[in-house]
Amino acid sequence: MSRVTVEKRPARYVALAAALLVTLLLPTRTLTAQEAKPAPAGGRVGAARLIDGRGGAPVTGVVVLVEKDRIAAVGANLPIPAGVPIIDLGAATLLPGLIDCHTHITGQPGNYLDDLFRRSPIDQAVMAHVYARRTLEAGFTTVRDLGAGEFIDVALRKAIDAGTLPGPRMQPATLGVSATGGHGDLSGFSPYLRFGHFSGLADGVDEIRKLIRFEVKNGAGVIKLVATAGVLSEEESVGAPQYSLEEMGVVVREAAMWSRKVAAHAHGAEGIRRAVQAGVASIEHGTVLDEAGAKMMKERGTYLVPTMYALDYVSNEYGKLGFPRHILEKARSIEKDAERSLRLAHRLGVKLAYGTDAGVFPHGDNAKQLAYLVRWGLTPMQAIQTATTGAADLLGWADRVGAVAPGMYADLVAVSGDPLKDVSELERIQFVMKGGVVYKRAPAASHRP
Ligand SMILES: [Zn+2]
Repeated sequence: MSRVTVEKRPARYVALAAALLVTLLLPTRTLTAQEAKPAPAGGRVGAARLIDGRGGAPVTGVVVLVEKDRIAAVGANLPIPAGVPIIDLGAATLLPGLIDCHTHITGQPGNYLDDLFRRSPIDQAVMAHVYARRTLEAGFTTVRDLGAGEFIDVALRKAIDAGTLPGPRMQPATLGVSATGGHGDLSGFSPYLRFGHFSGLADGVDEIRKLIRFEVKNGAGVIKLVATAGVLSEEESVGAPQYSLEEMGVVVREAAMWSRKVAAHAHGAEGIRRAVQAGVASIEHGTVLDEAGAKMMKERGTYLVPTMYALDYVSNEYGKLGFPRHILEKARSIEKDAERSLRLAHRLGVKLAYGTDAGVFPHGDNAKQLAYLVRWGLTPMQAIQTATTGAADLLGWADRVGAVAPGMYADLVAVSGDPLKDVSELERIQFVMKGGVVYKRAPAASHRP
């Protein structure tokens, strides 16, 4: 009997070797202080209107006073200290930097088989900074990144926080916690096929505890639980539960011991109810939500993070990327459910946070889902709030992001039109400031018309 074992070289050794080689070959160059960490300029940002992110009526003729990386004051008639630089955004509408609670910022879709067999975590590590910059320039100054291989997300966060790379504030999940044969596993291929990489697979109480401790030790700011089957994996089901209630409970309790919240990927009704009962902070996707599950979420304050734009993108685009037909059919089979579930959750008053699954579609298009939320029943202001105060609360960062108010990080974005009339204005971000540093300023935003 022939035995075929395809073994990828352990990626970390290759990455280490590559890093050493680069260090040896490149001429040494010391970063200047400015390159190492862009200093916030501070100053005064003026615009015609402000949507503060907390749901209040827009304020006209507003000025935001920025000191270092924080907002010092907000108002129409502020006394401005002499010599403070002025950024006049003219007729623009100013908002807090947007938050995406569900990204995969280290990757982007390519060809199905190429992604599986010809690309490695090293390719991801090389590209991740490009996606981080696109995300930031699209106005998303904070992301919760729900699942990346080889701790690339943690490395990216460190480089962004050090000011070495432009990118959003990140709360990384590292490896998704998944059952063997589940959505986080590679199934549907020869049992002799093995990839050498850090594994997020854990079965039973002890393995789950150990994996979560390993993830926290290596930088996880949130724990991602793969509670049910999914779309982009080879299981037959799209929504069947993949952990027992006992196992899901252990995920939540172990994460809580390390002060981490749990984000649960869950499509099907039974898996959603189990995850909510176990005490997760958010249900990601929540595509086939039933009334009982929605009521439980409302009672317990569990957030729903619907990801309908990604689902639409898979249905329409993934055929061109060589994805197997049964995966496309899975996506199409739940598209109507996604709308029904969001309307149900919204009607029952379930908390909503903005998350897109960016990385399933190209990074930088994170704002495209806002229009879906409005089409499916939210007002533009409610849709915006899912990406400001709602998202900030889910991340546990309501004290620092998601609103334009004194004491918050000076994370500001601006658009030239009125997003309360047309929420898709947020797809055309003209100005981005993060922590008092300007990262994008389109010419149109520079002058009063
Ligand atoms: Zn995802």
